[in-house]
Amino acid sequence: MKPAERLSRLPGYPLAELPARKRQLLAQGVDVIDLGAGDADYPPPAEVVDALRRAAGETALSKYGFQQGNPEFRRAAVEWMRRRFGLTFDPVTEMLPLIGSKEGLSHLPFAVLNPGDLAVVPEPGYQAYLGGTVLSGGTPLLYPLTPRTRYLVELAELDEETLKRVRLVYLNYPNNPTAAVAPREYLERTVELCRRHSIVLAYDNPYCDLTFDGYRAPSIFEIPGAREVAVEFFSLSKSFSMTGWRLGWAAADRSFITALTRVKSYVDTGPWLAVQQAGAYALDHAERLMAPNVAELARRRDAGIAALREAGFTCESPLATMYLWVPLPREIASADFGRLALEEEGVVVMPGSAFGAGGEGFFRIALTVGAERLTEAVRRLGQVLRSARAA
Ligand code: PLP
Repeated sequence: MKPAERLSRLPGYPLAELPARKRQLLAQGVDVIDLGAGDADYPPPAEVVDALRRAAGETALSKYGFQQGNPEFRRAAVEWMRRRFGLTFDPVTEMLPLIGSKEGLSHLPFAVLNPGDLAVVPEPGYQAYLGGTVLSGGTPLLYPLTPRTRYLVELAELDEETLKRVRLVYLNYPNNPTAAVAPREYLERTVELCRRHSIVLAYDNPYCDLTFDGYRAPSIFEIPGAREVAVEFFSLSKSFSMTGWRLGWAAADRSFITALTRVKSYVDTGPWLAVQQAGAYALDHAERLMAPNVAELARRRDAGIAALREAGFTCESPLATMYLWVPLPREIASADFGRLALEEEGVVVMPGSAFGAGGEGFFRIALTVGAERLTEAVRRLGQVLRSARAA
């Protein structure tokens, strides 16, 4: 079989090969500590599992949901946005249930790009932005996220001619993988620029509730004028440790939601209605259910940062997300570091280059295990650092 040419424009998916190698090592008796995918070890809230159990027994919830989905989920999601951000959205026309936010992020370009239109894709960044852009026939314009701009995408740096061709930009703050957050002033001038150039702003916000030290992550819709340009993506994956359940939603002005709904109605039939029912329960009790997970992540962050410093790494303590973005000495390539960490010390981390060439010089730790295990993993990473330096 000769695959379609568009596939050759996609780089290898970084998390695709890891599980197989991890399984082999585990079978050999290696004590593997997996800090790779952003998938914490703690379970979803027991009450949400119970809600799913009840919903699974309801025949009506085993039927096709189509794009309308479960009205309970639509209600709970917009009510959550009202409580959380003070924003009002119509549950029928201004939100859309997604089979995880990844699905919506990668389908959005099909709704807004014409062939050859540019989409600004941050690099390093979540792979669905690049995937959706390329698969839909758009042209990605990679923007390097580096300490120089505090990991912010500065659209004003693009020349006017380029800006005229940009139809879509992906922003994700709190950010994966860099853990950066976006100041309000940055969001204001970016919304303004998107309005001036009619650029759709895809604001990917799955980490908005994983925040520490009193930091509060905003919705893009808190910024005046954002409703003219933005589509915001939310997920239950990280806040409730429900990654495998595949549930999220998009919120936006009805014109965006109508276009995205049209794309999705040709490719999927929406998330399982029972999962949406349980998701509604999670969102209705979000504040109480999330608190222990956020406290646990803060403990892990503190333990991870302390252990990294002890092991000879430098790393700032992030205000949000479940990631630590750790600089490497210039002479150590991140892919080499990732390989050595796994093969010699049994620790899975994500090399920065796995998120695009712009991520070189860093690796990412996901806070997926408890403080003690994390400290042990980082101690082993210190070993890797010392032997790589000595080599
Ligand atoms: N956006 C970012 C930045 C992510 O890191 C992830 C998952 O890791 C997602 C979106 C996808 O989340 P979901 O599980 O809702 O598809």
